[in-house]
Amino acid sequence: MSVSGLPPYDDANIFARILRGEIPCKKVAESEHALAFRDINPQAPVHVLVVPKGRWVSAADFHAGASDAEIAGFWRLVGQVAKAEGLEPRGYRLLTNMGEEGGQEVPHFHVHVFGGRRLGRMVPATPGG
Ligand code: 5GP
Repeated sequence: MSVSGLPPYDDANIFARILRGEIPCKKVAESEHALAFRDINPQAPVHVLVVPKGRWVSAADFHAGASDAEIAGFWRLVGQVAKAEGLEPRGYRLLTNMGEEGGQEVPHFHVHVFGGRRLGRMVPATPGG
């Protein structure tokens, strides 16, 4: 565990490997500080993942440790993806999972951009439902 209580960043995680170009992705957009690509298992007609290029596990980790330029660059790309995918002004959802209870599968901070259909409830009505 690090000082923050998070496990150390795992350089073998799948998004780290995508960022290094070791495995392919369907790239949507890229900037100096972030990469956007299509989720391999889409949950909506539009399902794009936006990942910062730095080694961050969680939203708290990223926003506490990244530079202002990295944070701005990341969120700017999120907004650009939503626009470019035709989701604004129709509507869309941004989501980030963290840790075991948040259902995070890949321990590299990322935001999901969902859209292209009516998205329903924000979280299941019942735990595990
Ligand atoms: P999390 O649960 O960590 O928020 O979401 C991880 C997401 O990464 C999942 O939606 C999953 O489908 C996606 N994913 C896992 N492996 C790959 C991969 O190799 N390529 C792409 N494009 N997406 C992946």
